[in-house]
Amino acid sequence: MPRSRIPVSSVSQICIDFQPKGLTAVYLVETEDDRDALDLAALFEGFSPVLQSRQLSTGKLVSYAVLLQGQDQTLLEEIEKVLKTNYGFVILHRSFDNIIHDIVRELCKDSGSSLIPVPKCDICGKYDPFPETAINFMDKDNSLIATRRYCATCTAESSGRSNKEFIISLLQADRSDLGTLGRTELVRSRSRKQIAFKVKADAEEQCAVS
Ligand SMILES: [Zn+2]
Repeated sequence: MPRSRIPVSSVSQICIDFQPKGLTAVYLVETEDDRDALDLAALFEGFSPVLQSRQLSTGKLVSYAVLLQGQDQTLLEEIEKVLKTNYGFVILHRSFDNIIHDIVRELCKDSGSSLIPVPKCDICGKYDPFPETAINFMDKDNSLIATRRYCATCTAESSGRSNKEFIISLLQADRSDLGTLGRTELVRSRSRKQIAFKVKADAEEQCAVS
């Protein structure tokens, strides 16, 4: 089982970020040149923040995973139409799953394109371009030292009665040694934008020793 290299003893604050829920989809497009790739990047960027995008491959085969806010799929179809009028080979797959990720991988191999790494859930190991929950670990100077990401399924399984129970449950299920942080005393800290917890100093020392 992979171990984290996060210096657990230097974690001073833990913040949670939630990704808004939505529909995921993947577009595969065969491009002729770099100009096409730039145009595609600008196209997807232009729909942010309603449609978030993450590039999955670069080269002849350019592919993007997208996350659409809400349930109205019209925008996905409109983008597909625009792409089909401009490019010879276009596929729209209406979810991100292992099947489409394998197809992108195979097509990259066949076309000499490069696969861009996708985040993996740090509990179940599933590839997820838009993990539902991210936990950021900050040091005493409030600098980010690590981020762990969790998919929607694992997030749902860990949802507890309080934010504190939720975060502890995720950390204990995490594949790394971060579970020790779940046994320390977490104190809710004031943050306007995020749910954040301070790791108590004496608990940090216990962590450093253990
Ligand atoms: Zn997961």
